[in-house]
Amino acid sequence: MQNNRLRIAMQKSGRLSKETEALLKRCGLKLNFRDNRLISPVENLPIDILRVRDDDIPGLVMDGVVDLGFIGENVLEEERLEREAMEQPTEFTTLRRMDFGGCRLSLAVPEEFDYNGPQDLQQSRIATSYPNLLRRYLSERGVEFSSCMLKGSVEVAPRAGLADSICDLVSTGATLEANGLKEVEVIFKSKATLIQGPRPLSDEQQALVNKLLVRTNGVIQAKE
Ligand code: ATP
Ligand code: ZN
Repeated sequence: MQNNRLRIAMQKSGRLSKETEALLKRCGLKLNFRDNRLISPVENLPIDILRVRDDDIPGLVMDGVVDLGFIGENVLEEERLEREAMEQPTEFTTLRRMDFGGCRLSLAVPEEFDYNGPQDLQQSRIATSYPNLLRRYLSERGVEFSSCMLKGSVEVAPRAGLADSICDLVSTGATLEANGLKEVEVIFKSKATLIQGPRPLSDEQQALVNKLLVRTNGVIQAKE
């Protein structure tokens, strides 16, 4: 099944997909994403692009199914902690942090909550899609909590009576405000990043990765 084409995974559609696509194009890759195809061959280089849900990308890279992946550090680190706990492979290297996809993972509580520090969350219930990052942060501060795992609509959980507070991604804070919540603690700052898995590359593939990195540096520096 293995051929000599470099495999790169990126988010199919969402907050990272447009900028990842734009970067690859500026690096000189001729992309032609047709309809719902999972794999799109790059027309002018021996590269295949896999377009998938962002949550699948860390595992695809760490399992060596793809060579490279563009992924938010938040999803990457959450998945790394999850896989570590499950004793699954977690090996990867970071090739370069991107200049897009910036956001932060924050704790937020109802506006009327008199918040004085993490201790105020002791024995409470917190809704989040990032239980591992949250547990690491709060256990370092001696706080025990129970999580309410939600992949969506996290910000409505307190009003709905499902949780006391939330831990969710924030960029402007407008969504929090609209739901009567205030941000009280930043637990992880994230950007998109390019990672490489453990699968050994051929000399040609390694040369291609090097070229891609040089061009990426050029594209990002040109914008600074
Ligand atoms: P998918 O369908 O691929 O699973 P998704 O809904 O999980 O997509 P998006 O909302 O597209 O994910 O976000 C992808 C990534 O974009 C986030 O994990 C994060 O790294 C980054 N991001 C940047 N700004 C924000 C923001 N304001 N809110 C959420 N994510 C953001
Ligand atoms: Zn996702």
